[in-house]
Amino acid sequence: MNQGYIEITNARENNLKNVSLQIPKGKITIFTGVSGSGKSSIVFDTIAQEAGRQLNETYSSFVRTFLPRYSRPEADEIRNLSTAMVVDQKRLGGNARSTLGTVTDINSLFRLLFSRFGTPQIGYSNAFSFNDPQGMCPKCEGIGRIITLRTEAALDMDKSLNEGAILLPGFAPGSWQWKLYGESGFFDNDKQIKDYTAEELQQLLHAEPQKVTVSYRDTDMNTIYEGLAVRFMRLNVNSDKDTTKAAAKKLSEFTTTSRCPACEGKRYHEKALSSKVMGYSIFDLTDMQLDKLIDVMLQIDTPAAKPVVDGIVERLRNLCEIGLGYMSLTRETTTLSGGESQRVKMVKHLSGSLTGLMYIFDEPSTGLHPRDVYRLNELLVKLRDKGNTVLVVEHDPDVIQVADHIVDVGPRAGSGGGEIMYSGSYEGLLASDTLTGQYLSRHAEINAAPRPVSEFFESSKSSLHNLKNVSLRVPKGVFTAITGVAGSGKSTLVNEVFAKDFPEAIRIDQTQVHANIRSNPATYSDIMNAIRKAFAAANGVEAGLFSANSEGGCEGCGGTGMIELNMSFMDKMEIVCSECNGSRFKQDVLQYLYKGKNIVDVMEMTIAEALEFFETKDILGKLKSLETVGLGYLTLGQPLSTLSGGECQRLKLGKELNKKGNVYILDEPTTGLHMSDVSNILRIIEKLVEKGNTVIVIEHNLDVVRNSDWIVDLGPNGGTGGGEILYEGPPADILKCERSVTARYL
Ligand code: ADP
Ligand code: ADP
Ligand code: ZN
Ligand code: ZN
Repeated sequence: MNQGYIEITNARENNLKNVSLQIPKGKITIFTGVSGSGKSSIVFDTIAQEAGRQLNETYSSFVRTFLPRYSRPEADEIRNLSTAMVVDQKRLGGNARSTLGTVTDINSLFRLLFSRFGTPQIGYSNAFSFNDPQGMCPKCEGIGRIITLRTEAALDMDKSLNEGAILLPGFAPGSWQWKLYGESGFFDNDKQIKDYTAEELQQLLHAEPQKVTVSYRDTDMNTIYEGLAVRFMRLNVNSDKDTTKAAAKKLSEFTTTSRCPACEGKRYHEKALSSKVMGYSIFDLTDMQLDKLIDVMLQIDTPAAKPVVDGIVERLRNLCEIGLGYMSLTRETTTLSGGESQRVKMVKHLSGSLTGLMYIFDEPSTGLHPRDVYRLNELLVKLRDKGNTVLVVEHDPDVIQVADHIVDVGPRAGSGGGEIMYSGSYEGLLASDTLTGQYLSRHAEINAAPRPVSEFFESSKSSLHNLKNVSLRVPKGVFTAITGVAGSGKSTLVNEVFAKDFPEAIRIDQTQVHANIRSNPATYSDIMNAIRKAFAAANGVEAGLFSANSEGGCEGCGGTGMIELNMSFMDKMEIVCSECNGSRFKQDVLQYLYKGKNIVDVMEMTIAEALEFFETKDILGKLKSLETVGLGYLTLGQPLSTLSGGECQRLKLGKELNKKGNVYILDEPTTGLHMSDVSNILRIIEKLVEKGNTVIVIEHNLDVVRNSDWIVDLGPNGGTGGGEILYEGPPADILKCERSVTARYL
């Protein structure tokens, strides 16, 4: 099928240097290159962005006001695009009501099955939904858990309302919510909570909703008063709003969670649970591991049920094929990793039969064991063969091989990148002298001289999730790789068991660094203070002047560089502040120079440039750590919100390198990294170990595993078929372990 080419002329987003490019349609094109070279700038910021914008243009201006806004990417021309489906690693999100079964719609097929063929039949399909009043357990309303507010965390008993006794977020004295309680007329606002009578405490925490009048900004307002616990539950626990990981964590500080005693965590109404198919309730089936569930479904021999059963089996097979067979449909989507979320989204698209689309994937191999990579390749091929154009950003050598066409971006990161180094076939890339070509054609060897081990850290024995009463033994002062197929239990053993026993261990994962809108690499790694001092000393003024968060900040935007417009009918929209042009600083701060540059010039420097520019030891030490982790291409002032997961992880690593740690735990540190960046990570790990630290790395990347001193391999499979330790010892000897899947790939 010849559908021509996507044509891009002179693209200039971020670091792209007038990139012109032709991408064959109806084929798989893989984008490679070192981290920060500009792959995402081409694929997401240029191609997907323009596809979204063109699609929006096809709607009337009225409809468009309800759609996300896409600005035109920086490029002279972009032609011949199709509608884009971006399948990325953003978590599926959802709330306590979303499970693998609900997001894949497989649960609705089960509801159909039970409402037609369950014995006894208890009602229509609603009666089998834990998200419907008819089907949910009335006690926990279908959540399976009972969440209660912890009074001791929510209230400071030694304070009065006026002194800020309510510790929940959003209740600071003076705030609207605080007024609701303080001005309700129920309490003496100067009385300490510990002196409250039982009735007063009841009124404060558990009162049912009732009308009150409070005065706010000099006006009397009629409103509803309800106890703190009641209000907190209504707004935070029982709402259908999506919960982010951060919000869930915050929530857990103030609550305790226990399994619902009525349904024993099953979520369903007892009537729903009493209806059986082949002796199983809807919970029994959806709680089975997917690969087992297929076997059970295939035993249903009622002819009339065949269409429903076939539909279920086909979807389950798709999930198993992409390596998710170890999960169950009851698994909550908020507990899925980024890689797992992306694979679930992929399967949703495959079950549809759309053609002529442009599918865009962001490192789909993340979290996949080499054993399962071929399944991913099959999926990409299937999508292409349905007549779609498939664009993939990927580093894994085994995925790269499946490409019909490869675009290699480079040569380096940031301003040192942004050019097309190679565009053509896989074979051609191997023969080319680009960094990617060189790494792909090199021969890798297993570490034959690992460091000797003597003492061990050992965790308690655990049977959490799928673990089979195992403990993790990690040799002290060396580099240990934890391996095993997806779902074998690596994260459970390391993050949930080992890390709880050794809480002083420093954990570095890919979650977004906690930061506000003003955070950047300089503020995050504490370089900013020293820079301010340098400017202050050189000019004989106060250091606070060089802080965009306080005195020095532009008044137009409060030092954020952006202005938020709130228009009715529209989402919040941000525009660059016209007073400071996004520089975040007041005009008159810019007159103060340090070595000929003002503060804004300095924030625009890359970390590598700053290393040449500064002389202060403290600043140089911190900058050096960031360069060591491969972030030399970031500018000091780049907002942290624009960093990828891999970049966030390396930023954390760079900051932690300065600390005197002891045990480091890294979770897939090579995500988002090119093969040449992986060598950098290995060098960092070496340094940590040379300093006497113990380093534990959960990893699928074979280069990392080969270079470890010690391997702990879990398996043999995912889910209930895993959870055992198959091998622990030096890398070379794992090759003798017949049960280990990892060994076969080394
Ligand atoms: P890759 O996908 O190859 O890792 P990117 O396209 O994400 O690389 O980044 C290319 C360069 O552009 C990097 O220097 C990166 O820091 C920079 N960059 C990416 N997004 C933004 C942004 N929103 N604002 C400023 N710089 C950015
Ligand atoms: P790995 O890190 O090796 O991919 P995990 O430790 O994430 O494996 O998973 C091991 C098993 O535990 C799998 O069957 C997985 O579905 C299950 N599991 C992991 N996290 C949770 C969770 N939060 N709730 C329920 N089951 C979980
Ligand atoms: Zn319940
Ligand atoms: Zn401003």
